[in-house]
Amino acid sequence: MNLTQQLVRIPSHKNVPTREKEVAEFIYNFCEDHGIEVEFQHITEDRKNVIAYIRGKGTGNSLMLNGHIDTVTADNMKIPPLAAEVRDGYIWGRGTVDMKGAVACILMTMVAIKRAGIVPDGDIIFTGVIGEEGKSEGTEHIVKSGLKATAAIVAEPSNYKYAVGHRGLEWFDVFVKGKGAHSGRPERGINAIDKAMTFIHRVKEELYPKLKERQNEFMGESVMNFGTIEGGTEQSTVADCVLIRIDRRYILGETVESVMQEYQEIIDVLKEEDPEFDAEIRRTPDSVLDLNHPPMITSMNEPIVNVVRKSIKEVIKKEPQIKTGYGWTDAALLTNYLEIPAVVVGPGDISEAHTQDEKIHINDLVNNVEIYARIIDKFCIEDRIIE
Ligand SMILES: [Zn+2]
Repeated sequence: MNLTQQLVRIPSHKNVPTREKEVAEFIYNFCEDHGIEVEFQHITEDRKNVIAYIRGKGTGNSLMLNGHIDTVTADNMKIPPLAAEVRDGYIWGRGTVDMKGAVACILMTMVAIKRAGIVPDGDIIFTGVIGEEGKSEGTEHIVKSGLKATAAIVAEPSNYKYAVGHRGLEWFDVFVKGKGAHSGRPERGINAIDKAMTFIHRVKEELYPKLKERQNEFMGESVMNFGTIEGGTEQSTVADCVLIRIDRRYILGETVESVMQEYQEIIDVLKEEDPEFDAEIRRTPDSVLDLNHPPMITSMNEPIVNVVRKSIKEVIKKEPQIKTGYGWTDAALLTNYLEIPAVVVGPGDISEAHTQDEKIHINDLVNNVEIYARIIDKFCIEDRIIE
């Protein structure tokens, strides 16, 4: 609880000039103070991942526990974002649930293992990563550094459930082009707003029903969202261009190319139907670094899945549910590019994330330290029998 408060009190969102620097350094010092091996992984001058290790014997499973140390901004919060006030059994503030509480749980679990003098079979690795709320720069750097483990836990809030899959994420820009003219003579122009409406209607008519049919039992529905639309120059001028920004969450069986092609086909048909219709689609520039953000899936047959299921069950005394329809997490980079089977399990409710009064229940923090300890115990310490 104390550690969560300390982490929350150090802002680490994109409007902080030094970004995640202070919180990374705080975690570094915390680990040193507790005799835990720790290092930085520099990405830029100020921005760095912080990685901590409890070294194992090298005889068995290693486990990576991943948590992002950045948060979203705190601009419109209704509570003091950095106070980390304790009230009604909760800690309140930006990043309590997404996900400094989870980072504190991982670190406290490592401290407990260290204090108990336990040497696991393989390494226990904490990766405190930057930029998950941006382009996942931190975990992309982990991927490029080739840091490996037998399995991984991504500690995003799952509220006593666990996720073995989630959708991929891609952003697209659709430019609809028109021709400007005086509004008194609209027939001399081509109104890009009119044309954009045609495009949007066609997507709703043709694509929405197709997406509804695409389901994955772990990922949920394939979905899209018209995020922003801007266009035109002034009221008295026929709008000469519109930019539509789309967020697309796609499932297994779909790819960046295939989902982009579906929009392209609609554009091509509209061009054929209407010689004045002109539009282009592209992936939104700078929305990702080098790696795509494909769907994440871990087989239910992976030992780590059973270990997570069992560990939650022991704490909540009933069978935990699988969480479906989860948003993007860094777990997808680990499963797709490092081929590390990963499970999303962490304290608190994801519906609290990014809210104006974000909070986490203290009991959830305590219980999740126990869940993580049980996961490590079963997965990384020999002779544990798993039913
Ligand atoms: Zn998060």
